[in-house]
Amino acid sequence: MSPQFRCPCCGYKTLTAPASMGLCPVCWWEDDGQEDADARQVRRTANGNLSLVEAREHFAECGAAHPSFLSHVRKPEIYER
Ligand SMILES: [Zn+2]
Repeated sequence: MSPQFRCPCCGYKTLTAPASMGLCPVCWWEDDGQEDADARQVRRTANGNLSLVEAREHFAECGAAHPSFLSHVRKPEIYER
């Protein structure tokens, strides 16, 4: 199954289903269903102490949802844009 859903953090199409705890390979955000409406909330689930807003800021700055994830992430593929 090819990814068709956009990661709420980095915006690339890396997820095969929305809000299904998929781990985005481009930014390392785990999609627990958090979206724009509650982006500032820290859910303390899969993403630890990261809110979606913070993760997006980190991605804009360093290319991962958190600097400690940098060794895990990869560049987006063309078909994921
Ligand atoms: Zn992502």
